[in-house]
Amino acid sequence: MPRNSLVDQVILIVIDDVRSSHLFDLIGKGKLPNIAQIAKNGIFSHNCITSYPSITFPCYSNIIIGSYSGYFPKEGSGAPMYHWVGRSDPPVEGKKFPIIRNYGKGSSLLKLNNDLGTNCQTIFEQAGDGNFLSSLNLINRGSILIPPKEYTSSSILRGVEKVFKDPKSIFEEKNVPKVTVAYVPKTDDLMHRKGFDHPEYITELIKCDKYIGNLIETLKNTGYFESTAIGIISDHGNYKSENMYDIAPYFEEKGLMQYVPKKGTGDFDAHIGGVGFFNFRGKDWFHHPSFNQLKEFVTSSPDNKKLNLFEVLWKIPGVKLMYYRDDNNTPDKGIIYLEHRDEKTGELLKDKIEYEGHGIKQKTKYIPDTKDFYKYNEREESARLLDNKGHTIDEWLKVTNQIDFPMIVDQVPRYFKNPRSCDIITSTLGEYGFGYEHGKTMPSSPYSHDLGLKKSMTVPFIIGGASNIPRMNLSYCKTTDMVPTLLYLLGEKSHYSVVGKSVFDYS
Ligand SMILES: [Zn+2]
Repeated sequence: MPRNSLVDQVILIVIDDVRSSHLFDLIGKGKLPNIAQIAKNGIFSHNCITSYPSITFPCYSNIIIGSYSGYFPKEGSGAPMYHWVGRSDPPVEGKKFPIIRNYGKGSSLLKLNNDLGTNCQTIFEQAGDGNFLSSLNLINRGSILIPPKEYTSSSILRGVEKVFKDPKSIFEEKNVPKVTVAYVPKTDDLMHRKGFDHPEYITELIKCDKYIGNLIETLKNTGYFESTAIGIISDHGNYKSENMYDIAPYFEEKGLMQYVPKKGTGDFDAHIGGVGFFNFRGKDWFHHPSFNQLKEFVTSSPDNKKLNLFEVLWKIPGVKLMYYRDDNNTPDKGIIYLEHRDEKTGELLKDKIEYEGHGIKQKTKYIPDTKDFYKYNEREESARLLDNKGHTIDEWLKVTNQIDFPMIVDQVPRYFKNPRSCDIITSTLGEYGFGYEHGKTMPSSPYSHDLGLKKSMTVPFIIGGASNIPRMNLSYCKTTDMVPTLLYLLGEKSHYSVVGKSVFDYS
């Protein structure tokens, strides 16, 4: 055991799709007594900010690596999104056309650990020697994965209890796991199908609390409780779209054809919720299009119709903003444009986000047009950072954690630096949802998550258990702080790729 460790084991429980205010409201009503107890005797924050876009991948994978997307051939996570087109310049040898990755499809989830790349490390890979356990946890590189008997919250958390009772059931040495990660997906499923305000969703959270209570009992009975830290976090919050809209006929009418990776044909690939991610053909499918190619796009329809894609996308119902990159961007330095419109006059406005540097050293500048979209000018704290200087993630977090678009100036460039990112992002801010994926409108519900609004970006952050874990009520933090904090408690050092920091470093 490293000398300055406070605990010998950590157990991290990721409950998918829990908005911070919802969890703490239930705690306030006495419905989650076990989670409440962990928080009360340890560290908690009502205001933990997740990654943008607020979608399971990247948010959940970013928790487990303590980092974000970036220029993945050299840094950061190679999984920028739940859906991506495998673009690369130069093209990947032996690949005829770029793949479309969709983690919701078939066995694609199994490819996630490889897709992350070698420039980031999971908590297991960062935690030194020991036994490492994943219970359904999909980001399991460096650990032994126990598949649950069934995909229920009960089975996933009981799986952990079983290993603490009998480590030899899966490990060669009799030691209990030094790091355990359990992932609970059922809450997300219920949130999408029924909603965050539905009794079934709330009941599932109450059940999770009960199973966490059982786990605490087992840790006490086996003598491990006083040497274990239990972390509880979620990957993102949520919202309800005001309207749902079938956008597929609109793209057909415009003559835009779906990209087919096997043949290399087609004009575009998109997945659209409240936030839309659009990939268009450049000089070929390996290359991102330039600004002019997007403005004068030649479709592959029989008449080779020319389209200004910006105009095409602005006509999608409810679109409030558009992000796209500058032609001269490099991994080290560049500009992302934020187009928006004056609500009254319809005048086109263009804010700029400039970035420089990588990982923890990335600095970003927000240069708003006459109307700043994020409304950072309206509050003294955030207005101070609009000083034409570059700022770090923690500087942005400090001044924007209470408002919509928390630390988004840092997040947007991290996404666009990744060669696997799309060409244009749109957002309706929740006015419309589309449920559109790769050429089709899918059956979908208005309950979703992806926006940069606070309700979709804020999750609970809780660490407790052993009594020598200090008590702290953090006014804010970020999801990538969870892993470095747990590593600190174990007396281990974070990998250099980690962008989050131990919460003990917040002054
Ligand atoms: Zn999720």
